[in-house]
Amino acid sequence: MELYNLKKNEQRVSFAQAVKLGLGDEQGLFFPSYIPQLGNVDELLEQDFVTRSVNILTALLGDELGNDTVETMVRNAFNFPLAVQPVRDGVYALELTHGPTLAFKDFGARFLAQCLNHLCKDEKATILTATSGDTGAAVAHAFYGLDNVNVAVLYPKGKISVLQEKLFCTLGGNISTYSVNGRFDDCQQLVKDAFDDLELKQAISLNSANSINIARLLAQICYFFEAVAKIPAAERKEVVVSVPSGNFGDLTAGMLAKAMGLPIKRFIAATNLNDTVPRYLATGEWSPEPTVATRSNAMDVSAPNNWPRIEELLKVKFWDKSLITGVKVDEAQTEAGLKDLYAIDYLCEPHGAIASYALNNSLQAGETGVFLCTAHPSKFQESVEEVLDIHITLPKALADVADKEILSKDIEIDFSELRGHLMAI
Ligand SMILES: *Cc1c(COP(=O)(O)O)cnc(C)c1O
Repeated sequence: MELYNLKKNEQRVSFAQAVKLGLGDEQGLFFPSYIPQLGNVDELLEQDFVTRSVNILTALLGDELGNDTVETMVRNAFNFPLAVQPVRDGVYALELTHGPTLAFKDFGARFLAQCLNHLCKDEKATILTATSGDTGAAVAHAFYGLDNVNVAVLYPKGKISVLQEKLFCTLGGNISTYSVNGRFDDCQQLVKDAFDDLELKQAISLNSANSINIARLLAQICYFFEAVAKIPAAERKEVVVSVPSGNFGDLTAGMLAKAMGLPIKRFIAATNLNDTVPRYLATGEWSPEPTVATRSNAMDVSAPNNWPRIEELLKVKFWDKSLITGVKVDEAQTEAGLKDLYAIDYLCEPHGAIASYALNNSLQAGETGVFLCTAHPSKFQESVEEVLDIHITLPKALADVADKEILSKDIEIDFSELRGHLMAI
């Protein structure tokens, strides 16, 4: 697989290089030079999730890594269930919430861990990642206990849920966590600064596990196929997928799935109050505003990193921007979405509720809707209990960490402070 740098097109790399580098020169994102078309989509849709995922990822990576390696990596990474639930007439929920850290990020993080483990072998590496809540947990768990990899996670202090924090800041060992006195976008900037520091980068073999890493995106393509596969064949003609979006990795993966031949009619980019993309789609102007804290904190992103990949996909596929409907969902609407779902016996959480709300307001006659459930309701226990006035019991993964001590270091938005910590790991 060959990829090119979106900021410096002459930089061309293999998949292995793209995974190890994370970002290209000038902080450019890597993008596939060629997106394979799957000729046998109907057949693929008949297969079980893991078999189908092996076939999809082999089509993308087989030439470089070998089919057997890809198969082993996929089977190791995707060793937990996912589900498609009918929610109401013509609307389905794609539940990506049954992995080890109860969020969709388990798919990408676990596949990335497989890739790095295979590609780096005995070399030491340091994974540096910023999280708005769920990436940190997924990455920390995917790499926890590996001898040759240290993981450093930055997150905005007080802006992620208590249980989210407990899930990854209590591990210790090869996992270091930093609570940054700022917002997610500040954390993301600190990561970029670290990658710009060539001396640091070499000294600790820096690597990224953010959704800017192409390995994560490729893994996420697979579950969009599962969504369509589990919809009755008669309802597959005009499928609309609503994606609760923050950094826009998930939407990029969905559009890559379409580019490979998955029949999806259009996408809804559902955001919370941080609506840079819906405003951009309506006006053509890219003008991020300061990030606002919301109940759907994993989507509190006002400068989404993956957007240039979506622009590139639209360009290379000659797709019109109207393929994506931008919908901003405010806090009252998020709560209404959560309540509406609960009224029809579907327990959700703020991120999924935003996707569901946006879908309800956009779905037209003849279309079938799918919304992505990106986190387990219990991960947002406080919000869910408050809005729905119910009590929920924690699943084991969360109950086990609820009383553990947070091991994070507090830091300011100060690169030299972070640099000192990283050099000392
Ligand atoms: C990360 C995350 C999102 C946003 O996904 P992007 O790929 O960054 O757009 C949505 N919901 C939850 C629960 C998340 O953790």
